[in-house]
Amino acid sequence: MEDCIFCRIVAGEIPADVVHTTERTVAFRDQNPQAPLHVLVIPKEHHANAADLATADPAASAELVRTAAAVATAEGYDDHRLVFNSGAEAGQTVFHTHLHLLAGRPMTWPPG
Ligand code: AMP
Repeated sequence: MEDCIFCRIVAGEIPADVVHTTERTVAFRDQNPQAPLHVLVIPKEHHANAADLATADPAASAELVRTAAAVATAEGYDDHRLVFNSGAEAGQTVFHTHLHLLAGRPMTWPPG
């Protein structure tokens, strides 16, 4: 997807603060962090949202969650929040599957 910003990060065409990579995923710091730790974990392959990824590649879907937990641990945070926004009304602005990893401050519920 030439016009997908996250595909361009995977391809190395746009700089990102990458903290971890696996066979199927890339994890990088969010440019507009909402917590002391805010990392996005994305599949290297383009899929529009979490459900599309889980349908097309369940192994990659599981790898996103494992990678997020590994990054949280490596950064010193046992407690963390994982979020998928799916659809514009839910707050999705980049339509390449991404798992938000947030940690380092008290979290409230429900989210806004
Ligand atoms: P969402 O609103 O769930 O689609 O989340 C998209 C996230 O991507 C937002 O938190 C943005 O701050 C983040 N983001 C967009 N472009 C970049 C980029 N080039 N590098 C890092 N984070 C980005």
